Amino acid sequence: MSQPEQLGFIGLGIMGSPMAENLLKAGHALTVYNRSRAKAEALGERGATVANSPAEVGRRAQIIFLCVGDTQAVEEVCGSLLQGVAPGAVVVDSSTISPDASRELAEQFRERGVSFLDAPCTGSKSGASSATLTFMVGGEKEAFDRVQPYLAVMGKKIFHVGGHGAGLQVKLTQNLIGALTVEAMAEGFVLARKAGISPTLVLEVLQASVARNPLIEAKLPLVLERRFDAQFSLKWMHKDLTLMLESARRLEVPLPATALVHEMFGAGVAMGYGEQDFVSAIRVLETMAGVEVTESPQPGNS
Ligand code: NAP
Repeated sequence: MSQPEQLGFIGLGIMGSPMAENLLKAGHALTVYNRSRAKAEALGERGATVANSPAEVGRRAQIIFLCVGDTQAVEEVCGSLLQGVAPGAVVVDSSTISPDASRELAEQFRERGVSFLDAPCTGSKSGASSATLTFMVGGEKEAFDRVQPYLAVMGKKIFHVGGHGAGLQVKLTQNLIGALTVEAMAEGFVLARKAGISPTLVLEVLQASVARNPLIEAKLPLVLERRFDAQFSLKWMHKDLTLMLESARRLEVPLPATALVHEMFGAGVAMGYGEQDFVSAIRVLETMAGVEVTESPQPGNS
């Protein structure tokens, strides 16, 4: 790289803030924007330039990362960004949104001479902080090659998986398996707890079996401690389950288990757990079964 490129970051939530911070720590010039300004100012204190709009980020940066909530949020941000971004820039969207909507955005940016990559990630809050995220990127290979060194600052494994929307299709598959795993964990542990068995003991047995699973190993201790603060919120996993079902409908793929989990996680959102971690979906089943997955004595059991 001859001249260092100016970077931009839009969306400084649970994922975006630590991702942007890692770019700053690596010494890159960074302009940031967040809808609620306080989160942007926190990065301003660490050396970032704080912009007043996505359009301003577009005017200042050649490589612009996005990590905002849902499809509508990305479309709103891109509406402003398109006003400022210059031909030759690359927009890298790490939000999990509709693959179809992402392809439409890529077309709108292409008309301006700008590449738009879908670059969803996995690794959650801890992976974003420790720069160990996995990225799955869809879009032009040349644009991917240009942004790969920056993704490598925020992550450990970076895959180019195909054309526009392919990164999001991979992400939906990965989250489908994650969501169904958490529902399987909920059913198994609620059943064992109702039978009066220690969840810690069940986990130990699982770990010595083919049903062992790193997601369960990470999430079950939080359930036992009733720590549901969001690393990945239930409302966003419910959003992703909706995206999976929309994609499945378009591609004529039946997803019966995903449809059921979509309803269970939706019930969790309706019960007020949307801003909590997605593992709080277990509380829906706990309520239905009248039991809590903890080591405390349960009503009706010793
Ligand atoms: P988050 O903490 O809720 O942050 C969302 C960000 O988007 C915030 O900066 C928010 O601004 C901004 N935003 C929302 N609506 C907006 C709008 N209409 N216009 C402008 N900005 C808007 O979510 P997150 O956990 O960081 O997740 C962000 C994205 O990454 C989501 O698509 C999620 O599915 C995906 N993801 C998350 C994880 C995870 O483990 N957390 C892992 C992989 C992928 P405010 O601060 O003003 O609310």
